[in-house]
Amino acid sequence: MAPVSKQYDYLVIGGGSGGLASARRASAMYGAKVGIIESGRLGGTCVNVGCVPKKISWYAAAIAETLAEAKGYGFDIDVKGFDWPTFKTKRDKYIERLNGIYERNLRNDKVDYIAGRGHFVSRNEVEVTDSGGRKTTYGADKILIATGGYPSIPSNIPGAEYGITSDGFFELDQQPKKVVLVGAGYIAVELAGIFRALGSETHLMIRHDTFLRSFDPMVQEVVGKHYEEGLGMKIHRRSKQTKIEKHEGTGKLRVHYEDSNGTGVLEDVDTLIWAIGRKPKTRDLALDGVEIETNGRGHVAADDFQNTNAPNIFSLGDVSGKVELTPVAIAAGRRLADRLFGGPKFAQAKLDYNNIPSVVFAHPEIGTIGLTQPEAEAKYGKDSLKIYETKFTAMYYSMLEHKGPTAYKLICHGPEEKVVGLHIIGLGSAEMLQGFGVAVKMGATKQDFDNCVAIHPTSAEELVTLK
Ligand code: FAD
Ligand code: NDP
Repeated sequence: MAPVSKQYDYLVIGGGSGGLASARRASAMYGAKVGIIESGRLGGTCVNVGCVPKKISWYAAAIAETLAEAKGYGFDIDVKGFDWPTFKTKRDKYIERLNGIYERNLRNDKVDYIAGRGHFVSRNEVEVTDSGGRKTTYGADKILIATGGYPSIPSNIPGAEYGITSDGFFELDQQPKKVVLVGAGYIAVELAGIFRALGSETHLMIRHDTFLRSFDPMVQEVVGKHYEEGLGMKIHRRSKQTKIEKHEGTGKLRVHYEDSNGTGVLEDVDTLIWAIGRKPKTRDLALDGVEIETNGRGHVAADDFQNTNAPNIFSLGDVSGKVELTPVAIAAGRRLADRLFGGPKFAQAKLDYNNIPSVVFAHPEIGTIGLTQPEAEAKYGKDSLKIYETKFTAMYYSMLEHKGPTAYKLICHGPEEKVVGLHIIGLGSAEMLQGFGVAVKMGATKQDFDNCVAIHPTSAEELVTLK
């Protein structure tokens, strides 16, 4: 092992959402001496292969939908197609620009950017191997593990390697004509919506009867129905893939499967995407050598204060396995920097993991905060809850033959009817949720909602006039 070349107050492994936020706050606000180690591109999953290029793709899909709907409003337009390669090149350039901005931000905040892969050699030292194979050792009083995760691929399906993951989605140079998505979570639902809106034949293969099973049943029902009947996706319920074959000449895939209707084969599939969850990225860290504990699913588990079992080592974000969202990693990273370097005022700083708002960028969007109805019933009992629900057609669709769904649900608890769950589907739900999230986080009651005068004409006004 090389001798320690530089000593830090705080060394962060992983330059993604959580690591960058924590490193910058510790240095810029509290003057700590900070280094951040990143083996890939700065910005991590969110910037490079997650939220950002996904949302740009979602915008492209939303434009495609609007163009298709423009005729209903009297526009005489003829859309000749969608140029996927040009779109991808522009999207890549934007991400590269962001990588540069992140590097400049680190310089401005006086954080040392250490490019390379880090692993522990002791509880106070991390060895970094750069792209040329050179090794350098850095010492630190406090070390943060913020190494994120990576997408899973099944290990027991012959030919599974012919499929790609969400990482590969962002590398596709051509739009697949026929695509299969396996999985029932955020990524499968979001990517399926994008492909379908842009005109690909889209198959969604799910293990159970509905997707987004951790969401409120209203969400599962409304989105499932709309994806199938409204948007024309093929949903294969209770399905499992038995074999994937690749045609040598054309490169097309044959997906053998079993589902509720028996066995089948999907021919001429251009792209199969595994979207079946993510695993924590810990394998390079040599955690065993320094006895840092992981849990049953391999996450570097942390307590409410992001402490691991080692007193000077912390973990947060996707690698800690609590809530895999960018703003969660950022908020946890900032609170941790406050606590470690911000003095007595912040001695108890920590992220409150309750009531975290979240959006699925489906078509249309889904927003959720708080408990689902089954969760609320299990926690408080059915009798102490009042459920307010509405389904309607948003005014936007008044001029269109094709109608998209809008559905809202408020779950209220106790005589004061405190809002403990809010679930919304429909156009604009992503932007709407942030404000309602503030209200729920503050402990708003149904009466507080009703006391706020409606904004007319909007869809959101239905949430403050529910009967
Ligand atoms: P990451 O951002 O993954 O950063 C970890 C970094 O550590 C990586 O850059 C990695 O290269 C580096 N690293 C790993 N091991 C080492 C090592 N040994 N040495 C040095 N560096 C290392 N969240 C949302 O809130 N909204 C969304 O719309 C959204 N969309 C998503 C879409 C997709 C397709 C995916 C995959 C995720 C999406 N997410 C979204 C989730 C979000 O991207 C993650 O929750 C977030 O990036 C987690 O941040 P993190 O800091 O924990 O890890
Ligand atoms: P998720 O955990 O959301 O969903 C994966 C789902 O796939 C599981 O819930 C499971 O559903 C199903 N599944 C698991 N194994 C298999 C299998 N072998 N075969 C078929 N289906 C399987 O993971 P994602 O990969 O979609 O996303 C990872 C995380 O990234 C999300 O949980 C979210 O936190 C974050 N993210 C956030 C986004 C946002 O904020 N908009 C967007 C994208 C990702 P079931 O049990 O029903 O079969």
